Amino acid sequence: MNMMTEHYFDQSATTRPSDAAVEAMISAAWGNPSSVHAVGQRAANELREARAAVGRTLGMPRFSQDRLIFTSCGTESNNIALLGCARAKKRDPERPGTVILSAGEHPSLENPALLLEKEGYAVVRIPTAGGALDLDFLEKALGEADAPVIFAGFMLVNNETGAVYDVKSAASLVKKKFPDAVIHCDAVQGYLKMKFTPTSLGVDTLTVSAHKIHAVRGAGALYVNAAVLKRRNIAAVMPGGGQEGGFRSGTENLAAIRSFAAAAEEGYANLDGRIARTAELRARLDEGLSRLDVRLNRPVRGLANIASVVLPGIRSETMLNELSGRGIYVSAGSACAANSKKKSLALEAFGVSASDADSTIRVSLDHTNTEEDVEALLEGLAEGIANLQRKRTASAGK
Ligand code: PLP
Repeated sequence: MNMMTEHYFDQSATTRPSDAAVEAMISAAWGNPSSVHAVGQRAANELREARAAVGRTLGMPRFSQDRLIFTSCGTESNNIALLGCARAKKRDPERPGTVILSAGEHPSLENPALLLEKEGYAVVRIPTAGGALDLDFLEKALGEADAPVIFAGFMLVNNETGAVYDVKSAASLVKKKFPDAVIHCDAVQGYLKMKFTPTSLGVDTLTVSAHKIHAVRGAGALYVNAAVLKRRNIAAVMPGGGQEGGFRSGTENLAAIRSFAAAAEEGYANLDGRIARTAELRARLDEGLSRLDVRLNRPVRGLANIASVVLPGIRSETMLNELSGRGIYVSAGSACAANSKKKSLALEAFGVSASDADSTIRVSLDHTNTEEDVEALLEGLAEGIANLQRKRTASAGK
């Protein structure tokens, strides 16, 4: 069989589990960590170790008063943060509160916010034109908020454009005006790709996801700081057996959690090398792209791992299929937006026109990519553009 060499550039959608992550999954204790007998306690010990390991990657000291809640994915962590905050206190039905989000958040935060909007919460979206959070707009919105701000969510890295937002400045503005608000950060795309901790960002809650960092799918985490715990600012949205400190009931998926911890430890130990390697690959990619008939949606400050590339009048899905036929895998906008065929809120918020958004592909890479991958992508794009333009000219001439 003639096996095609594959070149994977969809690392922001999901990643291939590392050997250590798979081994940790396979060797996980099978007991229920809540059982008090020895079989259960073996699982409980592994769970404790995994929590400490992931906690270390987020700068949590050994006996931290903050908490790390294991969930099933980033989506669940974001939902617990926002809906859990809304449900935590008795709210005035006439004026339940204000929620602030950056424009173009991932649907796992934007869609629960829409639910709250229907319930009467005011939701204010902070513009992110050019990939920068509009801090003046934020300051004005804080001053004009009709009902107290209960929650503010700012993603660290946008999943479609790679824009890195100034979460720290935004968090400090909100804290100054509304000290009791929960300040949340969806750090799914920045985790183990850049250096930060929830404390360095000044946020109260923070989401990470295992399958974006070379672990198997099925685990995520929500960091919650001691201040939020003390104020009881997050309530359980799925009551049950009380696992994960009551914040996320359901028997823990220890195999996935162990895989998460193994990948997190690997990523943390090698972070500098990974950042440098990705930057090298990205520099080569950018150089090659500059010779092609494409443009970049280039954020004010961007992460090397994500390139948002506008093709010359070619629909992103057409190019995606063309490249896929050559074993080169990219995505159209983000995987989620591509699935739902909805317009991309992130690209719109960035200021990309509707027609450019239709022609935008997302190339997401990481340290596991190679120079050969980058060369194959550049060649595939050059030939793909030429082929598709030729076809277009031929059909226009008919
Ligand atoms: N937040 C961001 C920024 C993401 O990119 C994603 C996934 O693409 C998620 C949240 C959701 O993570 P998960 O797939 O683990 O639910």
